[in-house]
Amino acid sequence: MSAIRISILGAGAMGSLFGGLLAEAGHAVELLDVSEAQIAAVRERGLLLRNDAGERRLAIPIMRPDEATTSPEWLIVFTKAMHTQAALESVRHLIGPQMRVLSLQNGLGNAEKLAAFADPSRIAIGMTTVPADLVAPGEVSSHGESKTRMVMANGGSDGALEALAAALNAAGLPCEVDPDAVVAIWEKVAFNSALNSLCAVTQRTVGALGSAAEGRQLAHAVADEVLAVAQAEGLAVSLERAHATINHALDHHGGHKPSMLQDLLAKRQTEIETLNGAVVRAAGTHGIAVPRTATLYALVKMAEQAA
Ligand code: NAD
Repeated sequence: MSAIRISILGAGAMGSLFGGLLAEAGHAVELLDVSEAQIAAVRERGLLLRNDAGERRLAIPIMRPDEATTSPEWLIVFTKAMHTQAALESVRHLIGPQMRVLSLQNGLGNAEKLAAFADPSRIAIGMTTVPADLVAPGEVSSHGESKTRMVMANGGSDGALEALAAALNAAGLPCEVDPDAVVAIWEKVAFNSALNSLCAVTQRTVGALGSAAEGRQLAHAVADEVLAVAQAEGLAVSLERAHATINHALDHHGGHKPSMLQDLLAKRQTEIETLNGAVVRAAGTHGIAVPRTATLYALVKMAEQAA
């Protein structure tokens, strides 16, 4: 397999993990981030990566986006959704006619944001269940099984996407080019719109949410609202699959604090706009009522303001 030139835009938890594993597998990876602490840590000590294969320290180039000069074959966007626009603006000088852009960020609207910067035939989107934590600057940890599904934004595939999928698989990140990746994106939006916002407004862990019958019922009801919108968009989403994924998290991810709760506790902006917010807006275009999703959207916005 020949080495691919890959730049990771947003080298936090997910960006560091994907970038680290791809670099370890022999690809030419550059990490681009605005966090001075992350840049200093990776430059001074390398990236400390812990996963089920063990712990190692990797030397990887890291810089601010405006300092980068290499136009990559793939730009993988891993900022939080509210920073995508600014991040893409800062790498405009790298965008060449051959560059492809991939977003595996959570939420809706990622392809639309990328389309302002790259030809739609060069944009890929997807969904990943890879878990990652930035334990400290320069230290990333990821444990457990995962799957990544991706597709070109026009619904197809091409040789470059197949090559990237092969690279991810070989790097230890199980990945599939899947024409139904948009179904997987919406099912994850249902999961995140339910669990992230409920944990954020109640300030409870996933396990604590699941231990209350009301918490479990609400999570399922929110997911059903989101998936009704997906069905109106013509997508063959599965309510059973979404409920099973939610139950699994409620039963087995007890101590987990979803990122939305972590963001509120740290007084940061959350990804609520691209989750519940985007669902409420899409529901409006179809004339579908999503009262629970809309209430959680409003509550998280209020909590953001208070923070
Ligand atoms: P994170 O906050 O750990 O990392 C985001 C990084 O983006 C940070 O290092 C930040 O400094 C950087 N950034 C912010 N503005 C930037 C800019 N203008 N230019 C360059 N970099 C910038 O977030 P994360 O947990 O890695 O999540 C990234 C995306 O992946 C989110 O959409 C999230 O929902 C999704 N996701 C996360 C997980 C997970 O387990 N962490 C799993 C699946 C999907």
